[in-house]
Amino acid sequence: MDIILLGPPGAGKGTQAQRLEQRRGMRQLSTGDMLRGAVKHGTPVGLKAKEVMDRGELVSDEIVSELIDAELTAMGDDVGAIFDGYPRTAGQAESLDRILASHGRALDHVIELEVDEDALVERITGRFTCAQCGTGYHDTFKQPEVPGVCDKCGSTEFKRRPDDNEETVRTRMAEYRAKTAPILPIYEERGIVSRVDGMAGIEDVTRAIDAILG
Ligand code: AMP
Repeated sequence: MDIILLGPPGAGKGTQAQRLEQRRGMRQLSTGDMLRGAVKHGTPVGLKAKEVMDRGELVSDEIVSELIDAELTAMGDDVGAIFDGYPRTAGQAESLDRILASHGRALDHVIELEVDEDALVERITGRFTCAQCGTGYHDTFKQPEVPGVCDKCGSTEFKRRPDDNEETVRTRMAEYRAKTAPILPIYEERGIVSRVDGMAGIEDVTRAIDAILG
């Protein structure tokens, strides 16, 4: 089963994708994570993407579609994909159809996480992750059980994304509204879009997604 999690930055796509990975053996394909990895390792793609990402704008369709194609090639055919943060433009949506077809795969569901944009700034600017295993936390909503120690792996190092500041978040949301939200009708025509209340608690959102996936 291949699915897209769609929603503005901070809607909870990454959190839900990680939970689906753990519970269903699916694989999260986050172009944001791939690009951050490329920036960290100073690859040619990373060097090109860094400034664009710091501004909260979108990197080119070609770059992200190539990353997705390479990941799908490396992945087993029997593992379901959760697209997180991709596609983000009509061009990427077209590329995804082509790439999936070339791997003998097709989309089963597009799940839109509906959220109140005003609440997203607080969600995003407070979030941080374990530097070791990537588990997500939040200053207000989800501190580690033992302060300063990751619940999952025990690491004491955490990190914050450089683009999780208010100014960049506003640009990222504007990009979502202008370029990503308009791709929904493509999937609505196919009858594969479902909507989930992304303002509900993490467990409730997971339950709603489970009900859709069956
Ligand atoms: P994310 O982790 O999904 O919030 O992505 C972080 C940043 O990476 C975005 O603000 C963009 O600059 C870039 N990015 C991630 N995915 C894409 C994509 N599919 N298309 C274009 N840019 C992307």
